[in-house]
Amino acid sequence: MKTTNPSITGGCACGAISYASTSTPLFSFHCQCRACQKMTGTGHSSAFICRDAETEFSGQLTWFERQAPSGNVVKQGFCATCGSPVVNRNSGYPDKVYLTAGSMNEPSGFKPQKVVHRDEGHAWDLVDPEV
Ligand SMILES: [Zn+2]
Ligand SMILES: [Zn+2]
Repeated sequence: MKTTNPSITGGCACGAISYASTSTPLFSFHCQCRACQKMTGTGHSSAFICRDAETEFSGQLTWFERQAPSGNVVKQGFCATCGSPVVNRNSGYPDKVYLTAGSMNEPSGFKPQKVVHRDEGHAWDLVDPEV
């Protein structure tokens, strides 16, 4: 185990995949882009960035790769059994992981700092305008 005394733990809906991280979240955000709408099946994703080296996964993630508008390759890691999106990786930030807020065991600890791609959001998916 790389991690000792993890401050963040979580996993997918069926429990096949879990993670533990000692990283403090470096950045927390909502993203209303179309790719995140497709990934989550709803109006936006909510995620936070941790250091890969301080984050340990167990279970078999399945990866879907796509090209982001920036040119970076984004890999979306999900559970093939229950379909939960758990983690993203971005080729532009290979030492970081993007964990989904809803997958946390204590999601109330999520403190979004920014809304990205708000212009792609929908009227039915109002995200806190103060963020
Ligand atoms: Zn699962
Ligand atoms: Zn997005």
